[in-house]
Amino acid sequence: MSFPAKLRRMGTLVLTEIGQLLTLDGPDAVDRTQSHGPGADAAAVKRAEQSARVVSNACLVICDGTVRYAGPRSDAPTLHSLPDPVRQESVGGRLVTPGLIDPHTHLIWAGDRSEEFDLRNCGASYQEIQARGGGILSTVRATTQASDEVLLQSLRKRLRYALQRGVTTCEVKTGYGLYPEAELRLLRIIRHAQEEGDVDVAPTFLCHVPPPELGGADTSERQQFVRSLCAAVPQAKALGATSIDVYCDAGAFTRNEAMQILQAGQQHGLALRCHAEQFTYTGIAEHAARLGARSVEHIEEIDEAGIAALAHAGGVAHLLPGAVLTLRLRVPDARRLLRAGVRVALGSDCNPGSSYTQNLPLMMSLACTQMGLSSAEAWLAVTRHAAQSLGCSDAGVLRAGARGDVVVWDADSPREVCQRLGDPLIQRVYRRGVAVR
Ligand SMILES: [Zn+2]
Repeated sequence: MSFPAKLRRMGTLVLTEIGQLLTLDGPDAVDRTQSHGPGADAAAVKRAEQSARVVSNACLVICDGTVRYAGPRSDAPTLHSLPDPVRQESVGGRLVTPGLIDPHTHLIWAGDRSEEFDLRNCGASYQEIQARGGGILSTVRATTQASDEVLLQSLRKRLRYALQRGVTTCEVKTGYGLYPEAELRLLRIIRHAQEEGDVDVAPTFLCHVPPPELGGADTSERQQFVRSLCAAVPQAKALGATSIDVYCDAGAFTRNEAMQILQAGQQHGLALRCHAEQFTYTGIAEHAARLGARSVEHIEEIDEAGIAALAHAGGVAHLLPGAVLTLRLRVPDARRLLRAGVRVALGSDCNPGSSYTQNLPLMMSLACTQMGLSSAEAWLAVTRHAAQSLGCSDAGVLRAGARGDVVVWDADSPREVCQRLGDPLIQRVYRRGVAVR
């Protein structure tokens, strides 16, 4: 991931008078050998709290963009021992956490889907809207017609918006090009935004839906199309993609097609992700987990075999409350996943159709109130566990050596952020120790 020159050699930032510091550097919250019996939920919640680790009356020291010290004020290093220039800032007893990590977004698109918003809310289904040429396909048309510059500007704007809302690391998927060349073009634009470095970006090559003009999965045109996506994987990797993702569902890729695409990604060393079991059960979550997928996403309709495979293989479940709420889908039972020993992350799924939000704190509140996460589990899901999914172990945690990405909240405790249903509580954001809000 990029580390722009403008953020290097910034001296030292010392945040003092921290009421509660959420470090997230305790022991791992996931225990795959845990019992499923009575008390399993309480034990999991306790493990999450220990993993999240809150320090009261704390101090945070960031030197040249990297955390030097995160812990009790009483043990903090003396100021004269720190690299110049030293800036000391009081946070006035507020809560301090790592920068948030959004592990699932579709931030690169053009066009407007506001009409569809009303249509859907007044009764049209996702599939009906798609069948009428709306949905993903209308975004594909607008994205294809937009210039590189227009797409870059809108992506840049969304990344900066995310940063203002505390997101310092963000996954960005392609997916509104459909054809290999068009998806590779989107990767080039994502790479450009990544190099600008406003936010740490993790690019994903998404095989979203097959173009409907190719016909059903049994046509030779469609089979040829899947082969052409697989053949584009080395170029996607060369353009900076670190993951491959495929949307497997009715109206999207079949399970066999999705497996072909994931296997191509695996052959070329990409992390595997899968939009799985969202509208209909296909069995892809289980198959992708067995193949070693880093994450499966949505999983509203996952079955026990899928959960067991995910727990066994150590894949991360990305729950996406924005899409569940917007599309009125079955609400996934996060406790069922946690009881089985599955690691859970939360994403905004930001896209113009089914989840138009970049508000991760709201996703945390929804995951707590609707899906059964405790507040510590919700915090892990947008920091440490999201970082594990994206493969960036120095993010989502505040300990010596971690990225100096920090959010100061107008809140007394981590729990209050989850309680406040998306209230704008962010007071300051630092990236690599530099204030960006
Ligand atoms: Zn998605």
